[in-house]
Amino acid sequence: MNTNVMTTIPFTIDRDLLFTHLHTHLHIKPDELYAQDVENMIEQALKIGKPKVAYRLAYIESKGDDFVVVDGIKFTSRILRVNLEETFKVVPYVITCGEELEEWAKTFNHMLETGCANGIMEAIMHSARVHFFAKVEEEYHLDHAVNMNPGSLEDWPLKEQAPLFQLLGDVKGLIGVELKESFLMSPLKTVSGFRFSKKGGYENCQLCPREKCPGRRVPYDQNLYAEKYQLK
Ligand code: SF4
Repeated sequence: MNTNVMTTIPFTIDRDLLFTHLHTHLHIKPDELYAQDVENMIEQALKIGKPKVAYRLAYIESKGDDFVVVDGIKFTSRILRVNLEETFKVVPYVITCGEELEEWAKTFNHMLETGCANGIMEAIMHSARVHFFAKVEEEYHLDHAVNMNPGSLEDWPLKEQAPLFQLLGDVKGLIGVELKESFLMSPLKTVSGFRFSKKGGYENCQLCPREKCPGRRVPYDQNLYAEKYQLK
């Protein structure tokens, strides 16, 4: 198994993005009393943070109506299958903010501080993911790269984490991420998925009807499933 590991992913914290997040969720403004405390927490997190990723290049061996077989392991999802129509390779990955930051976040008890720590970890994850995606796209020549994540849509449920972890091998030993019986991951600020080429783009949110989601990237398109993904 040729799983690659990056244990020193460069990252920054986009303060504008972070303060927008904190303002929306915790009503903290940069010019208010707590802003200096947040700055102090940012400085700590920049020193402690060690985001990590495990990933590899994998090949699609066969495709059915609602499944694909990747390096001998079956993944069941109609949307994934359709999205992989024009490619033969995928990059499965698990990226985490790391145990170091999770332990750091646990040292805060006040609701406001816990909320700030969460926002900071999300900002770090965002930055680390941008860096990692740029690296794999260059390394494996992925044009028009898009993302799918088990558990984002009913069609590709969370239990599909099991085959994804199977593809990557000893993820706990490599980067400290544990897949629990519930198929959730520990540390909590961890994201798993497939990165692959798809002309025309794709976002999970296009097919997700969830209302008022703070993470929404694009509007829900209620006709898209029937137009592109339904079995004829
Ligand atoms: S709308 Fe929210 S829950 Fe739905 S796929 Fe997008 S980010 Fe995930």
